[in-house]
Amino acid sequence: MTAAPPRVLTVAGSDSGGGAGIQADLKTMLALGVHGMSVITAVTAQNSLGVQGAWELPVEAVRAQYRSVVDDIGVQAVKTGMLASAELVEAVAGLIAGTDAPAVVDPVGVSKHGDALLAASALDAVRTELLPAATVATPNLDEAARLTGVRVLSEEQLPEAAAAVLAYGPKWVLIKGGHLDGDAVDLLTDGTEEHWLRAPRHDNRHTHGTGCTLASAIAARLAKGRTVPEAVADAKEYVTGAIAAGFALGGGIGPVDHGW
Ligand code: PLP
Repeated sequence: MTAAPPRVLTVAGSDSGGGAGIQADLKTMLALGVHGMSVITAVTAQNSLGVQGAWELPVEAVRAQYRSVVDDIGVQAVKTGMLASAELVEAVAGLIAGTDAPAVVDPVGVSKHGDALLAASALDAVRTELLPAATVATPNLDEAARLTGVRVLSEEQLPEAAAAVLAYGPKWVLIKGGHLDGDAVDLLTDGTEEHWLRAPRHDNRHTHGTGCTLASAIAARLAKGRTVPEAVADAKEYVTGAIAAGFALGGGIGPVDHGW
């Protein structure tokens, strides 16, 4: 018998195409040496062309999955992704707030293809209930703008967006500037320390699942006892490699790769 690896729980949506969501999360966790577990919040019919359909699970089913995992197996870190509705956001925020483990909150809003993964009516619950329960929140620029009204057009504005997200109460925020021109620059801050993370841009359009992969990699590192800045730096390196290795699949945008 070998010792159990650290356990990490993803609370997110299923991507039938295997590129993002729960599937990306579990692949990342396997690649990074932790035991991945899942609470499925919604099921999407999805492929490289977009999301063809989405169905959220009842709150009761989400709660029951969470309790089954946490009460018996236990978790060293939790990651949240697609939460679909205000009811699910509220329920999940309550669950993670009551769990003694770091929580990485990826405030997923819209897919790269423009499909809504979070109802507009859920934004208030994200601001007032989910973000305050986060150890690290990982919005991209669109998500930060939707949550705070601060629209970032250049690297110099990243601190302003970060401060606006931090005002809702997460301990740390990682603002992902990957959609700006030039290098992929992210800012991690807790309001005191600032860590700028920079990676060369890979000219690869097969980036489906990038956000899920990054947040899961942070959770995996936190579960292994790294500090938040260490976990985020490691995760950025992992996702940069995964983007470089992303491959074409189907007729649209292919996934990042976990086997590089
Ligand atoms: N589908 C699900 C279930 C997701 O959770 C996410 C992102 O979090 C996406 C799709 C979107 O992935 P991308 O924007 O990388 O295409």
